[in-house]
This record gives sequence, C-alpha cells and structure tokens, in this order.
Amino acid sequence: MPSFSSEVKDELCRHPIRKSCCAVAESYGILLFCHTFSRSEIRVVSSHKGFAERCAALFQRAFHVTPAITSGKGGRTTLLITDRDEIGRIMVKCGYDEAGFVSLHLNAWLLEKDCCLASFLRGVFFSGGSIVAPEKKCHLELTSSHAALCREISALLMEHDLKNGISHRTTSTVIYIKAGESIEDFLTLCGAPLSAMKLMQEKMLKAIRNNINRQNNFADANLDKAIDASFGQREAIRRLRETGLLQTLEPGLREVARLREENPAASLAELAQMADISRSGLYHRLRKLCELAGAGSSKKG
Ligand SMILES: [Zn+2]
Repeated sequence: MPSFSSEVKDELCRHPIRKSCCAVAESYGILLFCHTFSRSEIRVVSSHKGFAERCAALFQRAFHVTPAITSGKGGRTTLLITDRDEIGRIMVKCGYDEAGFVSLHLNAWLLEKDCCLASFLRGVFFSGGSIVAPEKKCHLELTSSHAALCREISALLMEHDLKNGISHRTTSTVIYIKAGESIEDFLTLCGAPLSAMKLMQEKMLKAIRNNINRQNNFADANLDKAIDASFGQREAIRRLRETGLLQTLEPGLREVARLREENPAASLAELAQMADISRSGLYHRLRKLCELAGAGSSKKG
C-alpha cells in the first residue's frame, strides 16, 4: 500500500503546470529543500516517480533548463544540472546573484501572489515534505539542512495561520505541523484538498468510534450494576420465603418479589413497566423487601 505521503504527492502531481510565475515558485520551493542547490550543482533526488517527471517539466517551463535524469537503486530518480550558465540562470530567476549565495535565505517576493505561494508550498512539500498516515497520529514534516531557511519558512507559514514548530536534529532542521487543522489547511493550500478531506474524515470516524466505545462501556457498567442489585434482591426474597415472611406480605410486595425472581436480568425500568407502577414505586418496594429480609435474618440470627 502506498504511504500517505506518496498519496499526497500523487494528488499534487495532478496539478497542471500553467502560469510561468507559478512554475518558478514551485521550482523554487523544490530547490530550497532539494539534495543540493549550489552554484556548482543542482541535484534533486526523489523516490516518487511522478514528482521526478513533474520536476523536469517545471524546470523546463520556469528556466528553460533540461536536467539530466538518472534512475538509481530503490526506485530513486536523480535530476542533475551542472552547467554553470544554466545554474546561473536559475539563480537569477530565484532572486540570487549569478554568483550564487553565501547562505540560503528565502526571497519572499517570489511568493507574493496567492497562486505563487500555493505553488511554492507544493514544491517545498514535494522536495522536503513527508506526512504520516491518517490512521496514526497525524504529523507533517518539512526537512532541510538549512536552519536559517527553516526559520524563515516557519515564519511564512505562521503568517498564513499555519501553526508549526521547529526541531533541530544532528544534520537537519525540521519544520513540523502537528495533528490539527493546520495540516489540513496546509494540504488544501498547496493543492491536495482530497488528501485534506481524507484526514478530516478519518478524524471524524475516530471521534465516532470513541463515542460508541464510551457509550458501550457506560451501558456495560450500568448492566453490571443492575445485575449486582438483582442478585441481592433475589437473595432477600429467597430468605423471606424461607422464613415464611413472604406469604404474609401485602400483595404489592409479593407481586414485585415474583417479578424480580422471574426476571433476574430485567432493569428497574423494565420491572416497573411489568408491575405497572412508577420506577420510584418499584424501587421502594424492592428496598422494603431487602429491609424485611435483613430484619428477618437478624431476628432469626
Ligand atoms: Zn503564480
């Protein structure tokens, strides 16, 4: 079964590449989170086949550059650009000096239009994103080796009401979005509304299942209580019969005693209905039977 990450990427791949502004923004997102983005080499590595093809098409549309594509072990595809002029052209389109950059930072002006922001986040997710399956506790991660860049992207997400956090690992920095609405908002924003819907559905099913379990547990506990009570009442009635007291009681009490013995699993409500009296009336009669049995046994003892 494909992972949820790859399901999301499948959905993102179905987006047509239309405007060139968006092609640049999506490529930019890919480049910032890819394997290598430097003046001497651009290397994008992915095990998602659809993405590798899309990435090549995007670079073509955005920069008129055709990367060399090679397939490696484990279904990994590598896109490689080493031509200095081509890399220079890409650098300039992404807002850097033709000579490259000292440290990687975010050129936010490339994402000012809404269409471009969505495309950029799509590229970021393609290149650095992963998400765990909706059946588990949901968690979306964007991983990069550039800590300063991650802080800028984190702030960008915050600006768009996408709550997130940052954690530093030995060789990488991770922007994470925890379970909750932000993951669905992120997916919707970057163009995977069906995946977002799937998450929401899963959450709803989980809530319904929990609720049913709670109700079942509650019903079980009530039944247990009712059975415990029934046992004590039947004991009392048995004692009353043995001591000969039962026959001396008024007909209303005798009737309830009979119903209780004949229907050991019935609830108070059910017994009340059978006896055609109120629940509290029934309760008082049962209590009376228990009291009399207690008094009878103490007299006897
Ligand atoms: Zn655009």
